[in-house]
Order: sequence, then C-alpha cells, then structure tokens
Amino acid sequence: MEIEHLSVHFPINIGTVRAVDDVNWELRQGEVMGLVGESGCGKSTLGFSILRLLRPPGKIVQGRILYKGRDIVRMPEREILELRGKRIAMIFQDPLTSLNPLFRIDQHFIETLLAHEKGLTRKDAYRRAEEMLESLGISPEKLTEYPHQLSGGMRQRIMIGLGLILGPDLLIADEPTTALDVIVEAQFLDLLADLQKRYHLTIILITHNLGNVAQLADRITVMYGGSIAEVGEAGDIFENPLHPYTQGLLASIPNIKLDQPKLKTMPGSPPDLVDPPQGCVFHPRCPHAMEVCRVKKPGLVKRNGRLISCWLYG
Ligand code: SF4
Repeated sequence: MEIEHLSVHFPINIGTVRAVDDVNWELRQGEVMGLVGESGCGKSTLGFSILRLLRPPGKIVQGRILYKGRDIVRMPEREILELRGKRIAMIFQDPLTSLNPLFRIDQHFIETLLAHEKGLTRKDAYRRAEEMLESLGISPEKLTEYPHQLSGGMRQRIMIGLGLILGPDLLIADEPTTALDVIVEAQFLDLLADLQKRYHLTIILITHNLGNVAQLADRITVMYGGSIAEVGEAGDIFENPLHPYTQGLLASIPNIKLDQPKLKTMPGSPPDLVDPPQGCVFHPRCPHAMEVCRVKKPGLVKRNGRLISCWLYG
C-alpha cells in the first residue's frame, strides 16, 4: 500500500482541524507496522482513512491511498464494501462497544460471512465460525453466548476472529489492547504474532504503547501533529532514535533499572491542529529548534534507511 500526499480535515465551528497533513507512507506486504504517537497525532485518523471509515465531518481533502495499485480514495462505494472485511479488516479499541449486545456471537460471524460470500449456507457459516474460534483458543460453545457473558480478553479475540473470518491481507488494529489488563494484553499480543505468521497478514498496529510495538512491529512510524516524524526498522528506532520527538518519546518511558527520582517528560503540549505552529509542527517543544524550523516545514528525507522529517538531517 502506498499513501501519497494524504490530508484529512475536520471542519468544525472554530476552524478546520488538520488531523492528517500531507502524509506520504508505504506499507510492505507481510510486515507489522507500528503506528505510534500521542493522542490526537492523527494515527487513528490515518487508519480509518484507509477503510474510508471517517466519521463526518471528517473528509479526505487530498491525496491517494493506493492498495495493490487501486486508489481507495476514489473507489466507488460498492467496491469499498467489497474491500472492507474481505481484503482489509479492522479491529477497534473496545470490543464491548464494537460487538452488538443483542446478538449472540454466532450471529456476528454468520452475518459477516453471508454478507460477503454469496451462496454460503448458514450451516457452513456456523462451521467456519466454529473453526475460527478453535484457532483462537476459544471453545466453539461460546458461539451461543452474548458479548456480555464473555471476558474482555475473549471479546477482543472474537473481534480478531471477525476480522480474520473473510481472510483479509491487511489487518488494522486500532489500540486493540486498551481495554485489557496487562496479563490478557500479553496473551493477546502473542496471539496476534502467531496469527500474523499463520495467515501471512500485514498488520498496522496503532498504539501509544511503545511496549506493544517493541514486542510485535517490524517497522515503526512515529506521527506528531498530523505528520510523519520518523519511519524505520523497529530495532533501529529503539536503539538510535533520530527525530527529536522520537527521542523524547523513548526517553519518557520509565525504566525500573535506573535510579530516576523524577520521570522524564517532554515540555509543552501537543499542537492545536486548528491553528498549528508554522514551520515544523514540533518546534515549540523541540530542544534543537533552529530559525528555519519556525518558518519552514521539513519534508521527509532518507537517512541510513530511515525516513525523517527534521531540518537537523537536511
Ligand atoms: Fe526540532 Fe527543527 Fe527538527 Fe522540528 S525540524 S524536530 S524543530 S530540529
């Protein structure tokens, strides 16, 4: 998938929120891409744009999203419906609000399968759902239960099952572990890693939890203020972050091995995307800001296999 000059705006009564601003991005087949940044940096909006699931008044105002050569932005609604679920699936933050409380689990699977696979019988759809649950380590008997009867971890596994039941190539996981406790979160991430290998999935893991990306991601994209700050191999980014924002993010992770009387924090707060700072959007918080940073926005440049948007690198 290639994204070219993508901008997403939300016109509101006090102005226009530039949630994603001229983003160029590339996703390789079979990789796990961690998409990280503070709340409101545009990472979820970018994920939702890929499936054209933006809630009004959000809209894509420019750019292309090329999936296997076809532009999703300009695709007719009928084709988008085919793509959603079947080729690209998404799992959301909170499974309890994503599953319909009035439907049993089997009804969620059967409805999904029958909507996309013409000619499939309800019996076959039920069998497929049973197989999927077994592959997720859940007893098929749970198919007859309602969402509120399952634990949080089990509900999130059901969400993954619904995401995978149509055999997509790309899975977008938007903060999938937010509603889980740490033990269930660890089990869930192990399951995701296992499913990625088993189904040869490409995964976009959207999270503000750097521990999750360290565990799963092959590459990492760091977003700030609606723009991409840095893209690189996960190991390289953790060992040697180049962008000052990535450096600040990693420095702010508490380390129990160090004697730190105070937690390290980044000064300032995320930018107002209705009226973002001129030049580099990070300059009001950046310890290395120069004159040029205040007037001109840096473009993405390539350095040692990394993409960085910062005047320190030319
Ligand atoms: Fe800091 Fe300037 Fe780089 Fe922005 S462009 S991150 S302000 S050094």
